[in-house]
Amino acid sequence: MAQPAMAASVIGEIAERFRATSAEIHANPETAFREHRAAALLTDWLAEEGFTVRLGVGGLDTAFIATSGGVIGGRPAGGGPVVAVLAEYDALPGIGHGCGHNLIGAGAVLAASHLRRLAPDHAGTLVVIGTPGEEGGGGKIKLLDAGVFDGIDAALMFHPADRTLVVRRALAAAHVRVEFHGVAAHAAKNPADGRNALTAMIQLFGALDGLRQHMPDRARIHGVIRDGGNAPNVIPDFTSAEFYVRDTTAASTVDLLERFEACARGSAMATGTGYKLVHTAPMYSERRNNLAMASKLARYLELTGVDVEEARDDNPAGSSDIGNVSLKTPTIHPYIQIAERGTPSHSALFREAAATPHAHDMAERMALGIAAVASELLAGGELLGEARREHAAAGQPTVPKPTPPA
Ligand SMILES: [Zn+2]
Repeated sequence: MAQPAMAASVIGEIAERFRATSAEIHANPETAFREHRAAALLTDWLAEEGFTVRLGVGGLDTAFIATSGGVIGGRPAGGGPVVAVLAEYDALPGIGHGCGHNLIGAGAVLAASHLRRLAPDHAGTLVVIGTPGEEGGGGKIKLLDAGVFDGIDAALMFHPADRTLVVRRALAAAHVRVEFHGVAAHAAKNPADGRNALTAMIQLFGALDGLRQHMPDRARIHGVIRDGGNAPNVIPDFTSAEFYVRDTTAASTVDLLERFEACARGSAMATGTGYKLVHTAPMYSERRNNLAMASKLARYLELTGVDVEEARDDNPAGSSDIGNVSLKTPTIHPYIQIAERGTPSHSALFREAAATPHAHDMAERMALGIAAVASELLAGGELLGEARREHAAAGQPTVPKPTPPA
């Protein structure tokens, strides 16, 4: 086990940079795949800490890989493990860093830099992977498809929250846009000539409310209308809405999507319009929490005075593209409490909480824990063996790929 006292003294030297970087990302929010400033800040810092940095990987301009102690995309020369700490740094449209990804991005670099300073000639390969576009863009899935996660033996990241947990369930999620195509007409003079795309959309929302009664308890469907028509006296010939369709697994989400599409088809038929369903991002899968790694992290956190809540099956659950990573390689995605209990994520309140000194204190402690677990994994001892066995025993579900965007 790493010595927490020594760990704390090293982290003091880079904590200032962590705070400044996080604050700068927070003050300059960039949405999915536009995180150029954040990616530059993080990669510059990693390069200064001695990492070998590649910015623009896996076909994404704002994704990066930074390595210490080995080679990328294969076994390091010494044959040791490859351990990845993941960074997120995208903001939400309209609300900025209401999910606190500024703490994740800067915190990942803090954890990795800390580990490297503590043990510059560490075993294996330490990798920081910059994963853009978590908010609805599926950045990690694109990087997975591009092979960026090939050869990674374990992946670790953390997320700020209103509670501290090392294990949390998450839902699979499909991201879809529905369009209705009707016929425009003057709404007073010749409405009989029109076919109303807005009526179809309203019927779809009504049909989904009806479907909701017969969905599994944990499934979720929610959406917003993007295009609802232009003028009250013109029958709208085009409407569109974006939805997330979620259930406990990717496989059951595909089943739910079929029922969702039936609602769209029915609404189109009833209104004489046409409909189109487009997937706007890859399917986020369910999350597999590696319990061996998670319980080790809990022990490190408790050593630094952080109370870890017991995982509860009824904890509120969202979705993240870390799920797809967790099916490929042993993964943890713990949460650190930075805001008062009940503070909703994706809110202005959470955004303000993500910039406070308290949030940075807490994120620092979590980064220490992540560094300690990563260090133990790099050493290739019992923890890595346990994590691998647990991952292998869980089998390999396939994540269905719904029809790609038209
Ligand atoms: Zn988030």
